[in-house]
Amino acid sequence: MPDCLFCKIVSKEIPAKIYDEDGQIMVFYDIKPKAPVHLLIIPKKHIASISQAEESDRDLLGAMLLKAKEIAQKLSLSDRGFRLVANSGREAGQAIDHLHIHFLGGKPMSGLG
Ligand code: AMP
Repeated sequence: MPDCLFCKIVSKEIPAKIYDEDGQIMVFYDIKPKAPVHLLIIPKKHIASISQAEESDRDLLGAMLLKAKEIAQKLSLSDRGFRLVANSGREAGQAIDHLHIHFLGGKPMSGLG
């Protein structure tokens, strides 16, 4: 998607601090971290939001959640706890129209606000 910031990060046109990537998923550090660990897990292919995901994306969406589990294990956060957030649409606060799961951890977190 030509004007999509996260597509440009995937294609490395725009730099990001990449934590991990494989054939279908990229994980990079959020530029304005809200927690000691704040990563964004995105599909490499452009899906605007969870509302635009299709049945054919089932495996990809599952892989994104399993990637979160893997990150938590690697960062020793599985037992401490971590938070996953996927904003969908303006009212939810989605600012970038490329599906992303926020991975937040490393501090106590309370209500969702
Ligand atoms: P959301 O509000 O759910 O759409 O979250 C978008 C997130 O992307 C925010 O937490 C931003 O700080 C983050 N963000 C925006 N631009 C960049 C960038 N160039 N590199 C890394 N994270 C970014």
